[in-house]
Amino acid sequence: MTYCKVCSLGSDHPGIVVDEQRVCNVCRLDMVGDLLVNYRYTQEVFERFQHAGRNELGPYDCLFMYSGGKDSTYMLDKFTTEYGKRVLAWTFDVPFESTHAAENIRLAKERIPATFVVDADDDNIKKMMREVFNRPAPRKPGKYLDEKLPCVSCRTFFVIRAILHAHRNRIPYIALCADPQQILTMESNVREIVRGFYTTFGVGLTDELFRGEIEGLLFAEDDELPEIVFPFIAMRHTYDPDAIVAELKAKGLYASSPMETHCTLFPLLNYYSFTHWDCMFYKLNASSHVRAVKRNGGDGARSTFSLKFPGTLDVLEVEGRLKKVTLRIAKGEGTPQEHEAELVAAFRDLGTTETAARFVARSFLDMPAVAADMGIRLS
Ligand SMILES: [Zn+2]
Repeated sequence: MTYCKVCSLGSDHPGIVVDEQRVCNVCRLDMVGDLLVNYRYTQEVFERFQHAGRNELGPYDCLFMYSGGKDSTYMLDKFTTEYGKRVLAWTFDVPFESTHAAENIRLAKERIPATFVVDADDDNIKKMMREVFNRPAPRKPGKYLDEKLPCVSCRTFFVIRAILHAHRNRIPYIALCADPQQILTMESNVREIVRGFYTTFGVGLTDELFRGEIEGLLFAEDDELPEIVFPFIAMRHTYDPDAIVAELKAKGLYASSPMETHCTLFPLLNYYSFTHWDCMFYKLNASSHVRAVKRNGGDGARSTFSLKFPGTLDVLEVEGRLKKVTLRIAKGEGTPQEHEAELVAAFRDLGTTETAARFVARSFLDMPAVAADMGIRLS
């Protein structure tokens, strides 16, 4: 395996090619052509949505996927007050997420003029995750984002639930608060999302997970299908999380919390990417940060919406330590005390606060219990 000398992505990383000069295709910008097409398309859909009149077919102009985090609370407020849309705020209760956003949702319900609904399907989303983790090792070389398959599948599962809800209730648009980096790599065409799910999980399991309802989306007329809107596309050059939090606080819409959400499967997501693709779960984010720092100099570059990495970061070195401790925990080797100390040090090096590092380290110690509870095998 060779590593890109700019960003440290490995030649085995899914979707990555490292050339003879030891530079990867992302650093060489091979992907930019495709990415620009994606931006142009999502920008067009967003403008169409902004100028669309009332939905004559029902009481809502859009289904807004509302998590209660700062980004979606900020945008939900904008949609109802500034854009004047009639919004169904739809929250999917992900059983793996310990949410600190409940207080924000309560404040939003008091102050934002939207209709709020909560959807959940614990049994089926767990069944799907069990299948993803327990399936045989994927074929190499793989596609871009394959190392994040469990995470991507979870999100796709509830995006499809949102699509079904919008389709059933004749809501023409679905708003999804992904950040610009996610927008670039997300499929936004509803029919393609459904097709992709069938390809990944097969007809039998897909029909079981959605009780046979999604087949109808494949055969619906285009104008019967909702379109997905990414509202942050319009803010891709001006996004400022501190300003967003300040504005929300001023409006009484934000309760501070050191961590907005935490996925209890995060240690297992790392286990999956280490065992299948020999990389940590956040490898693409960390590499993109390193690339931006090298290009722009200094540590002012922000690589993603939700993560802040330190200015100097030896990705491969931290990744190696994280891999070792993750696999030792999976095998039942060593003691919780030594694991915890190593994990806290690794996450501190990745730029988290002391509190967050301790919290995440402890969740890694629970990994075998979480796996057993979910029916996921650690080999
Ligand atoms: Zn690179």
